Amino acid sequence: MQTIHMCDLYGQYLTMKDEIDTAIQDVIKSTHFIKSGKVLDFEEKLATYLKTNVVSCGNGTDALQLAFMALELQPGDEIITTPFTFVSTVETAVLMGMKPVFVDVCADTYNLNADLIEAVITDKTKAILPVHLFGQCADLEKILTLAGKYSLFIVEDACQALGTDFYFEDGTVKNAGTIGDVGCNSFFPSKNLGAFGDGGAVYAKDEQLTNKIRSVANHGMKAKYEYERIGMNSRLDSMQAAILEVKLKYIEKHIKARQNAALFYDEKLKNIDEIDLPLRVKYSSHTFHQYTIRTEKRDALQKYLGEKGIPSMVYYPKVLHLQAAYKNLGYQKGDFPVAEKLSETVLSLPMHTELQAEQLEYIVKNIEAFYENS
Ligand SMILES: *Cc1c(COP(=O)(O)O)cnc(C)c1O
Repeated sequence: MQTIHMCDLYGQYLTMKDEIDTAIQDVIKSTHFIKSGKVLDFEEKLATYLKTNVVSCGNGTDALQLAFMALELQPGDEIITTPFTFVSTVETAVLMGMKPVFVDVCADTYNLNADLIEAVITDKTKAILPVHLFGQCADLEKILTLAGKYSLFIVEDACQALGTDFYFEDGTVKNAGTIGDVGCNSFFPSKNLGAFGDGGAVYAKDEQLTNKIRSVANHGMKAKYEYERIGMNSRLDSMQAAILEVKLKYIEKHIKARQNAALFYDEKLKNIDEIDLPLRVKYSSHTFHQYTIRTEKRDALQKYLGEKGIPSMVYYPKVLHLQAAYKNLGYQKGDFPVAEKLSETVLSLPMHTELQAEQLEYIVKNIEAFYENS
Protein backbone atom coordinates (compact mmCIF):
# COMPACT_ATOMS: atom_id res chain seq x y z
CA MET A 1 0.00 0.00 0.00
CA GLN A 2 1.23 3.48 -0.80
CA THR A 3 2.02 5.95 1.97
CA ILE A 4 -1.14 7.66 3.22
CA HIS A 5 -1.04 11.44 2.96
CA MET A 6 -3.25 13.96 4.70
CA CYS A 7 -3.50 15.68 1.31
CA ASP A 8 -1.88 14.18 -1.81
CA LEU A 9 -0.99 17.09 -4.07
CA TYR A 10 1.67 15.25 -6.04
CA GLY A 11 -0.56 12.27 -6.77
CA GLN A 12 -3.23 14.65 -7.98
CA TYR A 13 -0.75 16.53 -10.18
CA LEU A 14 0.26 13.27 -11.90
CA THR A 15 -3.32 12.79 -13.10
CA MET A 16 -3.12 16.12 -14.99
CA LYS A 17 0.63 16.28 -15.58
CA ASP A 18 0.73 16.82 -19.34
CA GLU A 19 -1.83 19.59 -19.32
CA ILE A 20 -0.30 21.38 -16.35
CA ASP A 21 3.26 21.11 -17.69
CA THR A 22 2.14 22.55 -21.03
CA ALA A 23 0.25 25.36 -19.32
CA ILE A 24 3.34 26.30 -17.30
CA GLN A 25 5.61 26.17 -20.36
CA ASP A 26 3.19 28.40 -22.29
CA VAL A 27 3.38 31.06 -19.59
CA ILE A 28 7.18 30.91 -19.57
CA LYS A 29 7.27 31.25 -23.36
CA SER A 30 4.88 34.20 -23.25
CA THR A 31 6.90 35.96 -20.49
CA HIS A 32 3.65 37.63 -19.45
CA PHE A 33 4.00 36.62 -15.85
CA ILE A 34 1.76 39.27 -14.34
CA LYS A 35 -1.66 40.57 -15.42
CA SER A 36 -1.81 38.57 -18.60
CA GLY A 37 -4.79 37.36 -20.59
CA LYS A 38 -4.27 34.01 -18.82
CA VAL A 39 -5.39 35.60 -15.56
CA LEU A 40 -8.47 37.09 -17.20
CA ASP A 41 -9.21 33.75 -18.91
CA PHE A 42 -9.18 31.98 -15.61
CA GLU A 43 -11.32 34.64 -13.92
CA GLU A 44 -13.86 34.29 -16.71
CA LYS A 45 -13.98 30.51 -16.42
CA LEU A 46 -14.38 30.66 -12.65
CA ALA A 47 -17.06 33.33 -13.03
CA THR A 48 -18.96 31.07 -15.43
CA TYR A 49 -18.67 28.13 -13.06
CA LEU A 50 -19.88 30.19 -10.09
CA LYS A 51 -22.37 32.36 -12.00
CA THR A 52 -21.06 35.57 -10.46
CA ASN A 53 -18.31 38.18 -10.98
CA VAL A 54 -14.77 37.19 -10.02
CA VAL A 55 -11.67 39.27 -9.27
CA SER A 56 -8.55 37.21 -8.62
CA CYS A 57 -6.02 38.30 -6.01
CA GLY A 58 -2.92 37.27 -4.12
CA ASN A 59 -4.42 34.94 -1.50
CA GLY A 60 -7.52 34.33 0.61
CA THR A 61 -6.40 36.69 3.36
CA ASP A 62 -6.13 39.49 0.82
CA ALA A 63 -9.53 38.53 -0.54
CA LEU A 64 -11.04 39.30 2.86
CA GLN A 65 -9.19 42.60 3.11
CA LEU A 66 -10.28 43.57 -0.40
CA ALA A 67 -13.87 42.82 0.57
CA PHE A 68 -13.69 45.01 3.67
CA MET A 69 -11.95 47.84 1.79
CA ALA A 70 -14.35 47.78 -1.14
CA LEU A 71 -17.33 47.84 1.24
CA GLU A 72 -15.64 50.86 2.88
CA LEU A 73 -15.75 49.40 6.37
CA GLN A 74 -14.22 51.78 8.91
CA PRO A 75 -12.21 51.59 12.13
CA GLY A 76 -14.60 50.85 14.99
CA ASP A 77 -17.04 48.93 12.80
CA GLU A 78 -18.06 45.58 14.21
CA ILE A 79 -18.22 42.35 12.25
CA ILE A 80 -19.85 39.25 13.63
CA THR A 81 -18.04 35.97 13.06
CA THR A 82 -16.93 32.63 14.50
CA PRO A 83 -13.99 31.99 16.83
CA PHE A 84 -13.58 28.49 15.37
CA THR A 85 -11.83 29.25 12.08
CA PHE A 86 -8.47 30.02 10.53
CA VAL A 87 -6.93 33.26 11.80
CA SER A 88 -7.25 35.04 8.43
CA THR A 89 -10.97 35.40 8.98
CA VAL A 90 -10.37 38.15 11.56
CA GLU A 91 -6.76 39.20 10.96
CA THR A 92 -7.26 41.83 8.29
CA ALA A 93 -10.38 43.19 9.98
CA VAL A 94 -8.32 43.87 13.11
CA LEU A 95 -5.52 45.39 11.02
CA MET A 96 -8.08 47.79 9.60
CA GLY A 97 -9.18 48.79 13.11
CA MET A 98 -12.43 46.91 12.99
CA LYS A 99 -13.70 44.82 15.85
CA PRO A 100 -14.55 41.15 15.38
CA VAL A 101 -17.47 40.17 17.60
CA PHE A 102 -17.61 36.43 18.06
CA VAL A 103 -20.61 34.18 18.49
CA ASP A 104 -20.39 30.50 19.32
CA VAL A 105 -20.68 27.72 16.76
CA CYS A 106 -22.90 24.64 16.44
CA ALA A 107 -21.25 21.52 17.86
CA ASP A 108 -22.31 19.28 15.00
CA THR A 109 -21.65 21.51 11.95
CA TYR A 110 -18.73 23.54 13.37
CA ASN A 111 -20.31 26.61 11.75
CA LEU A 112 -21.59 29.89 13.18
CA ASN A 113 -24.73 29.38 15.27
CA ALA A 114 -27.06 31.78 13.46
CA ASP A 115 -29.49 31.80 16.39
CA LEU A 116 -26.92 33.63 18.53
CA ILE A 117 -26.20 36.46 16.09
CA GLU A 118 -29.09 38.81 16.78
CA ALA A 119 -28.18 39.19 20.47
CA VAL A 120 -24.77 40.73 19.64
CA ILE A 121 -25.90 43.17 16.94
CA THR A 122 -25.25 46.79 17.99
CA ASP A 123 -25.46 50.10 16.15
CA LYS A 124 -21.78 49.59 15.25
CA THR A 125 -22.35 46.25 13.56
CA LYS A 126 -21.69 46.52 9.82
CA ALA A 127 -21.27 42.99 8.58
CA ILE A 128 -21.77 39.31 9.29
CA LEU A 129 -18.88 37.10 8.25
CA PRO A 130 -19.91 33.44 8.07
CA VAL A 131 -17.20 30.87 7.37
CA HIS A 132 -18.23 27.75 5.46
CA LEU A 133 -15.96 25.57 7.51
CA PHE A 134 -14.53 22.34 6.09
CA GLY A 135 -16.66 22.68 2.94
CA GLN A 136 -20.24 22.95 4.22
CA CYS A 137 -22.20 26.21 4.22
CA ALA A 138 -23.22 28.07 7.33
CA ASP A 139 -26.95 28.66 7.80
CA LEU A 140 -27.11 31.48 5.25
CA GLU A 141 -30.86 31.80 4.97
CA LYS A 142 -31.11 32.82 8.64
CA ILE A 143 -28.11 35.11 8.21
CA LEU A 144 -29.68 36.75 5.14
CA THR A 145 -32.82 37.49 7.13
CA LEU A 146 -30.83 39.18 9.89
CA ALA A 147 -28.70 41.11 7.41
CA GLY A 148 -31.86 42.39 5.75
CA LYS A 149 -33.50 43.35 9.03
CA TYR A 150 -30.47 45.33 10.31
CA SER A 151 -29.01 46.47 6.93
CA LEU A 152 -25.76 44.57 7.35
CA PHE A 153 -23.35 43.33 4.72
CA ILE A 154 -22.64 39.64 4.40
CA VAL A 155 -19.07 38.72 3.55
CA GLU A 156 -18.74 34.97 3.07
CA ASP A 157 -15.43 33.36 3.93
CA ALA A 158 -15.77 30.61 1.34
CA CYS A 159 -12.06 29.76 1.36
CA GLN A 160 -12.79 26.12 2.22
CA ALA A 161 -15.94 25.73 0.16
CA LEU A 162 -15.31 26.18 -3.55
CA GLY A 163 -17.88 24.06 -5.34
CA THR A 164 -20.27 23.79 -2.39
CA ASP A 165 -23.96 24.37 -3.19
CA PHE A 166 -26.37 26.20 -0.95
CA TYR A 167 -30.02 25.07 -1.19
CA PHE A 168 -32.62 27.73 -0.44
CA GLU A 169 -35.96 26.67 0.98
CA ASP A 170 -37.70 27.77 -2.22
CA GLY A 171 -35.55 25.38 -4.26
CA THR A 172 -33.01 27.92 -5.55
CA VAL A 173 -29.45 26.62 -5.59
CA LYS A 174 -26.42 28.91 -5.44
CA ASN A 175 -22.70 28.47 -5.01
CA ALA A 176 -21.06 29.11 -1.66
CA GLY A 177 -19.53 32.57 -1.74
CA THR A 178 -22.03 33.98 -4.23
CA ILE A 179 -24.92 34.52 -1.83
CA GLY A 180 -23.74 37.39 0.38
CA ASP A 181 -22.55 40.79 -0.86
CA VAL A 182 -19.01 39.54 -1.27
CA GLY A 183 -17.44 36.07 -1.17
CA CYS A 184 -13.80 35.28 -0.52
CA ASN A 185 -11.83 32.31 -1.75
CA SER A 186 -8.31 30.96 -1.38
CA PHE A 187 -6.31 28.88 -3.84
CA PHE A 188 -3.86 27.78 -1.14
CA PRO A 189 -2.52 24.44 -2.46
CA SER A 190 -4.57 22.20 -0.18
CA LYS A 191 -7.88 23.99 -0.75
CA ASN A 192 -10.64 22.53 -2.94
CA LEU A 193 -9.10 24.25 -5.96
CA GLY A 194 -5.43 24.64 -5.08
CA ALA A 195 -2.68 26.48 -6.93
CA PHE A 196 1.04 25.63 -6.88
CA GLY A 197 1.60 28.57 -4.59
CA ASP A 198 -0.58 31.37 -3.29
CA GLY A 199 -3.73 32.72 -4.89
CA GLY A 200 -7.18 33.99 -4.03
CA ALA A 201 -10.37 35.44 -5.44
CA VAL A 202 -13.16 37.79 -4.48
CA TYR A 203 -16.69 37.27 -5.79
CA ALA A 204 -19.39 39.91 -6.02
CA LYS A 205 -22.81 39.99 -7.67
CA ASP A 206 -22.85 43.75 -8.08
CA GLU A 207 -20.95 45.11 -11.11
CA GLN A 208 -20.03 48.38 -9.47
CA LEU A 209 -18.73 46.66 -6.39
CA THR A 210 -16.78 44.25 -8.60
CA ASN A 211 -15.08 47.19 -10.33
CA LYS A 212 -14.26 48.70 -6.97
CA ILE A 213 -12.72 45.44 -5.76
CA ARG A 214 -10.66 45.31 -8.96
CA SER A 215 -9.48 48.86 -8.41
CA VAL A 216 -8.59 48.27 -4.74
CA ALA A 217 -6.61 45.15 -5.69
CA ASN A 218 -4.68 47.24 -8.20
CA HIS A 219 -3.37 50.12 -6.06
CA GLY A 220 -6.69 51.97 -6.21
CA MET A 221 -5.97 52.75 -9.84
CA LYS A 222 -8.49 54.41 -12.11
CA ALA A 223 -6.36 54.98 -15.19
CA LYS A 224 -2.65 54.48 -15.59
CA TYR A 225 -0.85 56.38 -12.80
CA GLU A 226 -4.10 57.87 -11.59
CA TYR A 227 -5.35 56.71 -8.22
CA GLU A 228 -8.93 57.20 -7.03
CA ARG A 229 -8.67 55.42 -3.69
CA ILE A 230 -6.12 53.82 -1.41
CA GLY A 231 -5.56 50.30 -2.59
CA MET A 232 -3.18 47.44 -2.30
CA ASN A 233 -1.13 45.24 -4.58
CA SER A 234 -2.79 41.87 -4.65
CA ARG A 235 -2.74 39.73 -7.74
CA LEU A 236 -2.85 36.19 -8.96
CA ASP A 237 0.14 35.58 -11.23
CA SER A 238 -0.16 34.06 -14.70
CA MET A 239 1.53 30.79 -13.77
CA GLN A 240 -0.98 30.12 -11.00
CA ALA A 241 -3.86 31.19 -13.23
CA ALA A 242 -2.73 28.77 -15.95
CA ILE A 243 -2.47 25.89 -13.47
CA LEU A 244 -5.83 26.75 -11.89
CA GLU A 245 -7.47 26.90 -15.30
CA VAL A 246 -6.43 23.30 -15.94
CA LYS A 247 -7.50 22.17 -12.48
CA LEU A 248 -10.86 23.93 -12.67
CA LYS A 249 -11.83 21.54 -15.48
CA TYR A 250 -11.64 18.69 -12.98
CA ILE A 251 -13.23 20.37 -9.99
CA GLU A 252 -16.42 18.32 -10.12
CA LYS A 253 -14.48 15.08 -10.42
CA HIS A 254 -12.29 16.12 -7.51
CA ILE A 255 -15.26 17.05 -5.34
CA LYS A 256 -16.86 13.68 -6.13
CA ALA A 257 -13.68 11.88 -5.07
CA ARG A 258 -13.72 13.71 -1.71
CA GLN A 259 -17.41 12.99 -1.24
CA ASN A 260 -16.90 9.31 -1.98
CA ALA A 261 -14.13 9.09 0.60
CA ALA A 262 -16.42 10.87 3.08
CA LEU A 263 -19.26 8.42 2.40
CA PHE A 264 -16.90 5.55 3.07
CA TYR A 265 -15.84 7.07 6.39
CA ASP A 266 -19.50 7.72 7.30
CA GLU A 267 -20.55 4.19 6.58
CA LYS A 268 -17.70 2.51 8.40
CA LEU A 269 -17.46 4.80 11.40
CA LYS A 270 -21.14 5.34 12.15
CA ASN A 271 -21.35 2.38 14.52
CA ILE A 272 -18.54 3.54 16.77
CA ASP A 273 -20.35 5.13 19.72
CA GLU A 274 -17.40 7.18 20.82
CA ILE A 275 -17.14 9.05 17.52
CA ASP A 276 -19.42 11.84 16.32
CA LEU A 277 -19.43 12.21 12.55
CA PRO A 278 -19.63 15.54 10.71
CA LEU A 279 -23.34 16.36 10.37
CA ARG A 280 -24.81 16.99 6.91
CA VAL A 281 -27.37 19.76 6.81
CA LYS A 282 -30.25 19.93 4.36
CA TYR A 283 -29.40 23.46 3.19
CA SER A 284 -25.90 22.73 1.88
CA SER A 285 -23.86 20.18 0.00
CA HIS A 286 -20.52 19.25 1.54
CA THR A 287 -17.30 19.32 -0.47
CA PHE A 288 -15.13 18.02 2.36
CA HIS A 289 -12.19 20.32 2.39
CA GLN A 290 -11.77 18.34 5.62
CA TYR A 291 -13.50 15.28 7.06
CA THR A 292 -13.60 16.10 10.75
CA ILE A 293 -14.82 13.82 13.51
CA ARG A 294 -15.25 14.50 17.22
CA THR A 295 -14.11 12.21 19.99
CA GLU A 296 -13.24 12.56 23.68
CA LYS A 297 -10.20 10.37 23.03
CA ARG A 298 -8.88 12.66 20.31
CA ASP A 299 -5.24 12.88 21.41
CA ALA A 300 -4.91 9.16 22.07
CA LEU A 301 -6.55 8.32 18.74
CA GLN A 302 -4.26 10.70 16.87
CA LYS A 303 -1.20 9.17 18.52
CA TYR A 304 -2.40 5.62 17.77
CA LEU A 305 -3.07 6.42 14.12
CA GLY A 306 0.31 8.13 13.82
CA GLU A 307 2.00 4.93 14.99
CA LYS A 308 0.19 3.05 12.22
CA GLY A 309 1.39 5.48 9.56
CA ILE A 310 -1.94 7.32 9.32
CA PRO A 311 -1.68 11.11 9.41
CA SER A 312 -4.42 13.25 10.94
CA MET A 313 -4.67 16.93 11.85
CA VAL A 314 -6.38 19.09 14.44
CA TYR A 315 -8.21 22.00 12.80
CA TYR A 316 -8.22 24.03 15.02
CA PRO A 317 -6.38 23.31 18.25
CA LYS A 318 -6.94 26.77 19.70
CA VAL A 319 -9.92 29.07 19.31
CA LEU A 320 -9.31 32.63 18.12
CA HIS A 321 -10.81 34.40 21.16
CA LEU A 322 -8.14 32.86 23.40
CA GLN A 323 -5.14 33.61 21.15
CA ALA A 324 -2.53 35.98 22.61
CA ALA A 325 -2.65 38.17 19.50
CA TYR A 326 -6.35 38.87 20.02
CA LYS A 327 -6.49 39.24 23.79
CA ASN A 328 -7.31 42.94 23.40
CA LEU A 329 -10.73 41.91 22.17
CA GLY A 330 -11.39 41.12 25.83
CA TYR A 331 -12.70 37.58 25.63
CA GLN A 332 -12.12 34.89 28.24
CA LYS A 333 -12.09 31.14 28.53
CA GLY A 334 -15.67 29.97 28.80
CA ASP A 335 -17.09 32.69 26.54
CA PHE A 336 -17.69 30.28 23.65
CA PRO A 337 -17.90 26.85 25.25
CA VAL A 338 -18.92 24.94 22.12
CA ALA A 339 -15.96 26.23 20.09
CA GLU A 340 -13.63 25.62 23.02
CA LYS A 341 -14.84 22.06 23.40
CA LEU A 342 -14.40 21.46 19.67
CA SER A 343 -10.78 22.57 19.84
CA GLU A 344 -10.24 19.71 22.32
CA THR A 345 -12.19 17.01 20.49
CA VAL A 346 -11.97 17.48 16.69
CA LEU A 347 -9.76 15.38 14.46
CA SER A 348 -9.52 15.66 10.68
CA LEU A 349 -8.82 12.39 8.86
CA PRO A 350 -6.87 12.03 5.59
CA MET A 351 -8.97 13.65 2.87
CA HIS A 352 -7.97 14.23 -0.72
CA THR A 353 -8.82 13.29 -4.27
CA GLU A 354 -6.45 10.35 -4.61
CA LEU A 355 -7.36 8.22 -1.58
CA GLN A 356 -7.51 4.56 -2.59
CA ALA A 357 -10.01 1.99 -1.31
CA GLU A 358 -7.21 0.02 0.26
CA GLN A 359 -5.98 3.08 2.15
CA LEU A 360 -9.47 3.98 3.36
CA GLU A 361 -9.98 0.37 4.56
CA TYR A 362 -6.71 0.52 6.44
CA ILE A 363 -7.63 3.84 8.09
CA VAL A 364 -11.06 2.74 9.33
CA LYS A 365 -9.76 -0.68 10.40
CA ASN A 366 -7.25 1.03 12.63
CA ILE A 367 -9.80 3.44 14.04
CA GLU A 368 -12.04 0.45 14.89
CA ALA A 369 -9.09 -1.34 16.48
CA PHE A 370 -8.30 1.70 18.60
CA TYR A 371 -11.80 1.82 20.10
CA GLU A 372 -11.96 -1.94 20.60
CA ASN A 373 -8.80 -1.84 22.67
CA SER A 374 -9.32 1.37 24.59
C1 LIG B 1 -7.22 29.26 3.87
C2 LIG B 1 -8.17 30.14 4.56
C3 LIG B 1 -8.05 31.55 4.51
C4 LIG B 1 -6.90 32.28 3.93
O1 LIG B 1 -6.37 31.87 2.76
P1 LIG B 1 -4.85 32.18 2.35
O2 LIG B 1 -4.91 31.99 0.88
O3 LIG B 1 -4.00 31.18 3.05
O4 LIG B 1 -4.54 33.58 2.73
C5 LIG B 1 -9.05 32.29 5.11
N1 LIG B 1 -10.07 31.73 5.75
C6 LIG B 1 -10.20 30.38 5.85
C7 LIG B 1 -11.38 29.82 6.57
C8 LIG B 1 -9.24 29.56 5.28
O5 LIG B 1 -9.37 28.24 5.39
